[in-house]
Amino acid sequence: DHLSSHRISLYPSPLGDGIRKKAAEIYGVPEDWIMIGNGSDEILNLIFRAFLGKGDVVMYLYPTYILYRTLALFQEAEYQEIPFTYDETLPMELIDRPAQLKVICNPNSPSGTFFPIPQMEKLLQVSDCPVVIDEAYVDFSRDNCLSLLKTYPNLLIPRSFSKSFSLAGMRIGILFAHPEIVHGLLKLKDSYNLSCLSQVAAMAALEDIDAMWENVRKIRETREWFTRAMRELSFTVRPSEANFVMVQKGGENMRLLYEALKSRQILVRFFPEWPDLLRISIGTDLEMKTLLNALYSITGA
Ligand SMILES: *Cc1c(COP(=O)(O)O)cnc(C)c1O
Repeated sequence: DHLSSHRISLYPSPLGDGIRKKAAEIYGVPEDWIMIGNGSDEILNLIFRAFLGKGDVVMYLYPTYILYRTLALFQEAEYQEIPFTYDETLPMELIDRPAQLKVICNPNSPSGTFFPIPQMEKLLQVSDCPVVIDEAYVDFSRDNCLSLLKTYPNLLIPRSFSKSFSLAGMRIGILFAHPEIVHGLLKLKDSYNLSCLSQVAAMAALEDIDAMWENVRKIRETREWFTRAMRELSFTVRPSEANFVMVQKGGENMRLLYEALKSRQILVRFFPEWPDLLRISIGTDLEMKTLLNALYSITGA
């Protein structure tokens, strides 16, 4: 019925009314605090366009999601990349230096690590600019920042349906923010940014959110035993709250290991920019066992 030929001959809902209504129910955030995007990437794009002009400063930790730098370059903004610290406290520079926009990916990619909410609150209290907390991976973590929205009108939380909902091909993102921010961003957004197919997919995903939680439960379980197994192989593995783990071995260059795995048709992520680490996505138990067996035979362990 949602997809009858009659329906697809019409334009989709510009604001994603159905999604907003359902999301409002599930997340306990009013509809006018919600904006839909063509993937969370579109939402990030709109945020950078709205808040950054030439010479403005955007600040984020690094290494992180590489799109932040690309978007800053588009705006001719100055990007200040503050070295990531792998403990649970935010670097003081990020908290108390002035900027026009601050972005935190929580959980972060590629590290998978998670900053506890009181750290985010500290950042929000001190910063007098918009603060984006990119929660693309948050469903895999222990907590989230939605409850801070009411207190901090400078908080923007983009989320994605690409990871925990496994809908990357549908391009669905959702933003939670103060209605004034949503109102402003809507002026920049393409009217029909989400096709009716994507809207139907998003609604179906939200209506069966238990399926997502069940998938998340499995991935977390696999992540935990896989982390232990990798540590036994003397890899350093940061405690991950995402659907991947970051592994390192001293400062060793990981390219050869990446290529050896690839020749066995096992794909992990190697970043030329950070050659001393691999990011390994969590798949099924069987896939992770296959990977471990490949590592035993490659390293002779
Ligand atoms: C995947 C990802 C996105 C973009 O997600 P889409 O909804 O697929 O556009 C944004 N931020 C981070 C940190 C991501 O990993």
